[in-house]
Amino acid sequence: MLTFEDFSARVAALETRIAAACGVAGRPPAEVRLLAVTKTHPADAVRFAARRGLAAVGENRVQEAAAKRAELAVEVPTLRWELIGHLQSNKAGPAAATFDCIQSVDSEKLVRRLDASAGELGKPLAVLLQVNAGRDPAKFGAEPEDAPRLLETALACRYLRVEGLMTIAQLGATEAETTDHARRTFDNLRVMRDDFRTRYGVALPELSMGMSGDLEIAIAAGSTCVRVGTALFGERG
Ligand SMILES: *Cc1c(COP(=O)(O)O)cnc(C)c1O
Repeated sequence: MLTFEDFSARVAALETRIAAACGVAGRPPAEVRLLAVTKTHPADAVRFAARRGLAAVGENRVQEAAAKRAELAVEVPTLRWELIGHLQSNKAGPAAATFDCIQSVDSEKLVRRLDASAGELGKPLAVLLQVNAGRDPAKFGAEPEDAPRLLETALACRYLRVEGLMTIAQLGATEAETTDHARRTFDNLRVMRDDFRTRYGVALPELSMGMSGDLEIAIAAGSTCVRVGTALFGERG
């Protein structure tokens, strides 16, 4: 595990990267939030994020996040926990109890189960709909043609707050191909969000796209949330 000083320097470097990308895109840096992805890292990674003043952490497994959140309940009571990994609908209950936002909602069945679970807990739950905007055969996420139906179902739910859309870009065989995939995927997601705004009259302010390697491309395409693990905490073991 790195020291807090090293971590803090990495956050500063990332903030510089984000600000530079916003400058190029003509966007205010305050429009883009940094989600620290602490998956596979120990609870100290979460402590560092909170101590540096970051508002949220991203995790990809319910059990791992629940354990860390329980361990840190007293120490970091106000941090926002977000699920970015695939969620099976049979884990909707523990997921709704553990997370403040679920970014990986990709099926109607999952939408219904999360709404029921949030209802039982009596708390509204923020969600993003994950869309396979690059049509990557290896990725989770609703197919673009299924996304309208998924949104309609989620909007009809009493306990879910649909804040926007999320996607992950596919890696290419070369750097140029990866860049190309990312640009196309992120543009597709923004166009879809803009279309949903007019069709359904909803704001959908959040576009969660971009990670350590492709955040500049994502910010140029309109990202409001970059999910960064490796550039903050190093390679995952
Ligand atoms: C792991 C993960 C990230 C972080 O990726 P890095 O390349 O380590 O920055 C972002 N988004 C999702 C959905 C992830 O699973």
